[in-house]
Amino acid sequence: MGNDSFFIKTKQDEYRARNVVIATGPFQNPNIPLFSEDIHGSINQLHSSQYKNSSQLLDGNVLVVSYGQTEILFLEKKIQKKGDPIFGFELKHTIKTNDVKVKKRLIGVDKDLLIFEDNTTLKVNNIIWVTGFKHDFHWWKMDGILDREGKVIHSRGVTNTKGLYLIGLPWQYRLGSALLQGIGYNSKYIANKIEDGSPSL
Ligand SMILES: Cc1cc2nc3c(=O)[nH]c(=O)nc-3n(C[C@H](O)[C@H](O)[C@H](O)COP(=O)(O)OP(=O)(O)OC[C@H]3O[C@@H](n4cnc5c(N)ncnc54)[C@H](O)[C@@H]3O)c2cc1C
Repeated sequence: MGNDSFFIKTKQDEYRARNVVIATGPFQNPNIPLFSEDIHGSINQLHSSQYKNSSQLLDGNVLVVSYGQTEILFLEKKIQKKGDPIFGFELKHTIKTNDVKVKKRLIGVDKDLLIFEDNTTLKVNNIIWVTGFKHDFHWWKMDGILDREGKVIHSRGVTNTKGLYLIGLPWQYRLGSALLQGIGYNSKYIANKIEDGSPSL
């Protein structure tokens, strides 16, 4: 960045711009707990973004880690019989019939033994991490724009650097900010800020 403009380098071309809106998506890299690296190599590990079908799984039991919306969709898909619609009751039924066991939070591992918050342990053949995503901002060659946790410092997508904006972050403004229906109100806000030549955060 210099002379009040940004220098942008792509694989093909180079540009200068006074305003840049970063819209590189809310779901970039798998967010998997670090202790997954200590898990014994005999256990098959996948992130939900890699999972396509059950042929990727080893025979035996599967631990699906997390209980976000994606996990529920994932479990419902797995237990859905071909052609059946999903109305949300299948998962409850499966839990009741003990086909799916619900465990407390996974907190660590000792070789091939998984340890849960309530000090119970379990051996599994497969783990599917449905633990969400994290951002990748390593390509931003600018100082002072990230906080200690590596998150961008911003207010409603307006960063602390004049002319630099973001769109599509989770909770950028509201719950829906990282969802398709969130694009309208967020982009209008950012467009107005650019038009006004608003100063940075
Ligand atoms: C499992 C799942 C289910 C979902 N279900 C729903 C749903 O039911 N309803 C809903 O509203 N939303 C849903 N979403 C969210 C939806 O996918 C996002 O809201 C939407 O994709 C966000 O659009 P975006 O353009 O901000 O980001 P993206 O669609 O992620 O696009 C970002 C683009 O930026 C590119 N990019 C990244 N880094 C760079 C770089 N350095 N240089 C150049 N390009 C780059 C990427 O390749 C990508 O093409 C779901 C998401 C997931 C993961």
